[in-house]
Amino acid sequence: MSPQQRFVIVGASLAGAKAAETLRTEGFDGEVVLIGEEALRPYERPPLSKDYLRGEKSFDETAAVHPADFYDANRIELRKGTRVTEVDPGRAEVVISPGERLGYDRLLLSVGAEPRHLSVPGAELDCVHYLRTVGDSDALRQAFSGSPQVVVIGAGWIGCEVAASARQLGANVAMVELASVPLEKVLGHEVGAIYRDLHADHGVDMHFGVGVDALEGGKAVEGVRLTDGTVLPAQVVVAGIGVTPRTALAERAGLALDNGVLVDEYLTTNAEGIYAAGDVANAFHPRYRTRIRLEHWSAALNQGPAAARNMLGQHKAYDRVPYFFSDQYDLGMEYRGWAPVFDRVVFRGDVANREFISFWVNQGRVVAAMNVNIWDAGDAIEALLNSGGTVDLDRLADPNVDLTELS
Ligand SMILES: Cc1cc2nc3c(=O)[nH]c(=O)nc-3n(C[C@H](O)[C@H](O)[C@H](O)COP(=O)(O)OP(=O)(O)OC[C@H]3O[C@@H](n4cnc5c(N)ncnc54)[C@H](O)[C@@H]3O)c2cc1C
Repeated sequence: MSPQQRFVIVGASLAGAKAAETLRTEGFDGEVVLIGEEALRPYERPPLSKDYLRGEKSFDETAAVHPADFYDANRIELRKGTRVTEVDPGRAEVVISPGERLGYDRLLLSVGAEPRHLSVPGAELDCVHYLRTVGDSDALRQAFSGSPQVVVIGAGWIGCEVAASARQLGANVAMVELASVPLEKVLGHEVGAIYRDLHADHGVDMHFGVGVDALEGGKAVEGVRLTDGTVLPAQVVVAGIGVTPRTALAERAGLALDNGVLVDEYLTTNAEGIYAAGDVANAFHPRYRTRIRLEHWSAALNQGPAAARNMLGQHKAYDRVPYFFSDQYDLGMEYRGWAPVFDRVVFRGDVANREFISFWVNQGRVVAAMNVNIWDAGDAIEALLNSGGTVDLDRLADPNVDLTELS
């Protein structure tokens, strides 16, 4: 690779920072420019709803992707607090506000996603929060002090983790969700009910099967009016109602879009020399023969490096089994696989004591699995998912049968 080449990465978070690191570990000797609009150096977001939010660990201890001196030491030009306003694929340049142009030989878009905002009356009131950045997490920690009345809108991963942390910080928490249990869209009713019971056991006041009509209050929010007429008192509202991929730059650049930036299994877009990775990328997955946009830490962690290798011409498909994790109170879990369709869930272990594995099964094949408070099953689960064959469901449920025998 010629030392004169310049690779530009737009979006300096997990996917972008790991891509920059990989360019160097793979021996790229040209310029690496990592541009991010946030003022902080690249960080991971999972702690923002967990230990960092609760004030248990600092930014450096739990969130920063690399030590502060990493970027200089690796000749990575990290341009913090810098926004890219245009991508010009015709001239192979990005425009950095206010008007600086920077040419690239390869470009990675790792611009991530942003929280969806409430559109109900009162959404603009003070003390209505969203959670994506360190600043958002700092603001929430402050808002949760002094045992306030918190209403969490949306019982997805962010909503559930924020509710758990708020309870752990001593806040009174109510949760509102349109579905019948938390996390129903991903986990289904049966497993979602385990999370419902977990939050109930920790004193969260839950309202399922209802929406939000309006937020009420003068300057700051004072209540949340539900579609069934109930008004929940609220001094703090947190909305965790999903994210939208940041596609504006790509759209203006004429890249192909559909629920994110469309990329193939090599994470290449339809434009010469431009790649996308992480939350913004809707990538073709060779295993599932379809495009999937993953909003997971592990996709950012691994797609960034995969894109970097392909920017260097290695032509390697990204085919990892999707993986994510969540921690709520004393329930930690890891989920592997992809289960848009399943016909049953098989449990192995002690569900009542929240120490078990649940398997999502479709036509006799395990398509996804979640280990809850069991930390030595990851490799066996991965092998089972990779083997792809039909399994005996009684043996799958039997904790005395070694999981590796089922692959
Ligand atoms: C609170 C929270 C908790 C989470 N917990 C978990 C968890 O427990 N497990 C799990 O698997 N996943 C979790 N996730 C999801 C995970 O953090 C994301 O999947 C991951 O952050 C995606 O990384 P990314 O690098 O693709 O994008 P992002 O993290 O969204 O970063 C994109 C970056 O690009 C920058 N940017 C955007 N546009 C521009 C521009 N025009 N110019 C310059 N810079 C730009 C943004 O400012 C941002 O810094 C959590 C997310 C949040 C918010």
